[in-house]
Amino acid sequence: IKERYHWQTHNVKQSGVDDMVLLAKISEDAIVENLKKRFMDDYIFTYIGPVLISVNPFKQLPYFTDREIDLYQGAAQYENPPHIYALADNMYRNMLIDGENQCVIISGESGAGKTVAAKYIMGYVSKVSGGGPKVQHVKDIILKSNPLLEAFGNAKTVRNNNSSRFGKYFEIQFSRGGEPDGGKISNFLLEKSRVVNQNPGERSFHIYYQLLEGASPEQQENLGITSPDYYYYLNQSAAYKVDDMNDRQEFQETLAAMDVVGVSGEEQTLVLQLVAGILHLGNISFRESGNYAVVESEDFLAFPAYLLGIDQDRLREKLTSRKMDSKWGGRSEVIDVTLNVEQASFTRDALAKALYARLFDYLVDAVNKAMQKDHEEYNIGVLDIYGFEIFQKNGFEQFCINFVNEKLQQIFIELTLKAEQEEYVQEGIRWSPIDYFNNKVVCDLIENKVNPPGVMSILDDVCATMHAKGEGADQTLLQKLQMVIGTHPHFNSWNKGFVVHHYAGKDPSAPRPCYEMPALLRALPPIQAAIRAPRERFNIEFCLFLPPTPKKQANNLVDTLMKCTPHYIRCIKPNETKRPRDWEESRVKHQVEYLGLRENIRVRRAGYAYRRVFQKFLHRYAILTPETWPAWRGDERRGVVHLLNSVNMDPDQYQLGRSKVFIKAPESLFLLEEMRERRY
Ligand code: ADP
Ligand code: MG
Repeated sequence: IKERYHWQTHNVKQSGVDDMVLLAKISEDAIVENLKKRFMDDYIFTYIGPVLISVNPFKQLPYFTDREIDLYQGAAQYENPPHIYALADNMYRNMLIDGENQCVIISGESGAGKTVAAKYIMGYVSKVSGGGPKVQHVKDIILKSNPLLEAFGNAKTVRNNNSSRFGKYFEIQFSRGGEPDGGKISNFLLEKSRVVNQNPGERSFHIYYQLLEGASPEQQENLGITSPDYYYYLNQSAAYKVDDMNDRQEFQETLAAMDVVGVSGEEQTLVLQLVAGILHLGNISFRESGNYAVVESEDFLAFPAYLLGIDQDRLREKLTSRKMDSKWGGRSEVIDVTLNVEQASFTRDALAKALYARLFDYLVDAVNKAMQKDHEEYNIGVLDIYGFEIFQKNGFEQFCINFVNEKLQQIFIELTLKAEQEEYVQEGIRWSPIDYFNNKVVCDLIENKVNPPGVMSILDDVCATMHAKGEGADQTLLQKLQMVIGTHPHFNSWNKGFVVHHYAGKDPSAPRPCYEMPALLRALPPIQAAIRAPRERFNIEFCLFLPPTPKKQANNLVDTLMKCTPHYIRCIKPNETKRPRDWEESRVKHQVEYLGLRENIRVRRAGYAYRRVFQKFLHRYAILTPETWPAWRGDERRGVVHLLNSVNMDPDQYQLGRSKVFIKAPESLFLLEEMRERRY
């Protein structure tokens, strides 16, 4: 029997309510107040029914040890204070008991604690599940892939010193017996523009500083490593160091992680060569010579060409010219067009970004190969993806990120609010409908194919028909957007760009980024240039980013998530100072608003906390009556009625639908669980 848990001696009751369904009054202020009370008492976790709210404490709290892992294992939600381990345990048990795949969607703004939360889940699952040496190896990879992908995919930003600049969906695959024996990572929308420039005070991806700090003398020599201010791709932002981050030591960890995932020593050398090659690529500059660009100094061309394994002449040619289809007198031919200085620099940066993205994909592939499993049984997926981003200037990357978030909100709506109500209707349960804002209209605005086409389609169209990109393309795109969707209620435009009114409907605090035309188009390729490099392994032949990719990625993700039993963690960032015990009321309130917590509580309260199909319910609580043990014979519905009558469940507390039993308050369920526990 497990001890009741008190991680602090003071009275838990004073720290607000641990499930906000129980709040006396549902208002944003009451929610913020409750979270604050708990936060100040070092309780960072709070529930809204099954949804976990987590407030970043910006300090290490004492309740993440093996002791807690043990306590939360197999325990019912009500037995212990809210905890991420309770959610992780619930997913794991659900998967095993119901035989259904599970996923957890972790959302929140940058620095709110999403990635840390994801790591706690991975750690928990890996701790509580058994397994022999093969399984241990997979667990090792699951845990070690983190430092590896963080080295290449995370960076210091003004909001978070270790900000993930890519989205990640990590599936841990399990055997029927619940042992993690495989895994799969899908990555989304790496912010590759960071490779070529960063905002003031921000850095490029960690790996660059790790390499510069940690390279051996031999590597320094071979890779042309010197101080960071030498490289154009690093010196624009002039931020090189991060507090509490030891780049030199982390370099060793990155290399060790590559070992674990099976990237050989030889391959590691190539990886570093590419990393360095991209840096040196950035130092190639151009000057104007009779209206077109020439490479300023051949010396700067040779080294990156060598590191990247590209013939020097080919590289020069690719950077200063481009192929173009030309139609002349009914004939079509490909001609070389020379570029001006701006276009050449742009092409250089496009090459750097594409190479880096390919390298990142290669590493993800390596991790995937190492954990590959030949047939799927069960899995638990963890989605860690950045939230809405609104900057002064928003380009294509922000547009894609915000679109994905829009889709995630849609799933949340689909799976919780809408599905909840539809299920009541379908099951014939009495209940009064409640209003909610469905953001499908915003998703359609972005991704519709026709009638009217959405922003993505229009973008595709304009890019496909445009050869030269410049002022002209901006205006063409803008005109087209105005013409086709100018009157859409969630769309506005002005002479330099457009605004999308992202979800949360008419809420004045709804995110409304202004997407600027040049910033939007600059992320798109001037040409679909390809460089065929001898180094086949990295497949440097690059096919630049095209708009349908993020749209497809977002939709694939949605399809995968829709097949799982979903769980939610909503992360909240209490301040911008990154200091413990610092609470910025208005910032928290803003997040509470756009995460839709109030509506979440409202729906939860109106509905039923628990539902199970008759057969699963009977199976779980069979031990409570002699007639149902070991199995109920006959009509399942009658079995459920019998069971609930025998335990004197208040008839107001439940309803039977066509195929499922619905139980209103969590407490009623706790009662059943307690009785069950006692019998065993
Ligand atoms: P996000 O992924 O949402 O951008 P992170 O998970 O990287 O944010 O968290 C940012 C920083 O906040 C972490 O590096 C860590 O210092 C701190 N942090 C987040 N969650 C916790 C936690 N549960 N306990 C202690 N510190 C945390
Ligand atoms: Mg993160």
